Amino acid sequence: MNILVTGAAGFIGSSYVRMLLAAGAARGPEVSRVTVLDKLTYAGSLDNLDLTDPRLTFVRGDICDAPLVDRLVGQAGQIVHFAAESHVDRSIASADAFVRTNVTGTQTLLDAALRHGVERFVHVSTDEVYGSVESGSSTEQDPLDPNSPYAASKAASDLLALSYHRTHGLDVRVTRCCNNYGPRQFPEKIIPLFLTSLFDGHDVPLYGDGLNRRDWLHVEDHCAAVELVRTAGAPGRVYNISGGVELSNHELTGRLLAACGADWSRVRYVADRKGHDRRYSVDDSRARTELGYRPRHDFTSGLAATFAWYRDNRQWWEPLREAGKGVGRGVG
Ligand code: NAD
Repeated sequence: MNILVTGAAGFIGSSYVRMLLAAGAARGPEVSRVTVLDKLTYAGSLDNLDLTDPRLTFVRGDICDAPLVDRLVGQAGQIVHFAAESHVDRSIASADAFVRTNVTGTQTLLDAALRHGVERFVHVSTDEVYGSVESGSSTEQDPLDPNSPYAASKAASDLLALSYHRTHGLDVRVTRCCNNYGPRQFPEKIIPLFLTSLFDGHDVPLYGDGLNRRDWLHVEDHCAAVELVRTAGAPGRVYNISGGVELSNHELTGRLLAACGADWSRVRYVADRKGHDRRYSVDDSRARTELGYRPRHDFTSGLAATFAWYRDNRQWWEPLREAGKGVGRGVG
């Protein structure tokens, strides 16, 4: 079976493809070939993929390019859709690319999936679609209440994907995951931004009072959950995915400073992000009970390994940080 993975030159999609291609990792119908469709925006890098693997085909292209999408979807048994504009700060600066890629791109893929009778379509959404949750945790039944243009565009694509199941019977499955961390995350998001800034002797900018709270999950645990949803999930079903590690940005900053042997004199408190959601939290008991989902990475050792990866792979992040400069302050 050929599986089409969109956006897999980016952080999470590339980790998913590495997992798929690792010997014996695929749990469902045999994955014999993986086709990656990625536009290689500022966030995508071919260094994230092993292009020497004969089972992997890389196609540089846009998910909004209907003829290209039609051709690739026609050759695919299943689709796992990661491609998106993913950085909240960029969506505040300009929402154009977010609406185009996240909404129109998803619709282009869904239409092609329908035309070609694709067997399964996994849509990778986010916990940010629920909006800020002051207390408790969002369940899959909760209404969506996104606040940033990024979250609104993801909510639109999430609902559009589900509508193709309800209206057309397409086998769509949706994941809504919390903040990811791990190697190969573009150095504009808080963990790699702070680590690489501290390595180079720069200060780090902390938004507002630093008390916004996020739930953290290692990228490999997210990918394992996506694979569970692809292979064992149910059509039309939404699955929240949590890391169970809730930290304020202040607490996270303290951990990153400690990892780098730095102190609080390196932190600059900066004006808060517009419309900054205070807290995200999802209840993932459905994924746990129905799919047996359990995160494997412990946060302390996962963060230590992430620190070591950025310390040892300067050649990966240095050019990207130069290219990505000037937008936002990195909080996820
Ligand atoms: P990323 O920004 O690292 O990667 C996105 C990839 O999509 C890049 O390789 C980019 O080149 C590609 N892309 C962008 N526009 C495209 C287009 N028009 N056509 C084809 N390719 C295009 O993002 P990520 O952090 O890996 O996130 C992947 C998915 O997971 C996204 O859908 C995001 O909303 C979702 N998600 C992310 C997180 C997180 O913490 N990073 C959490 C939950 C959900």
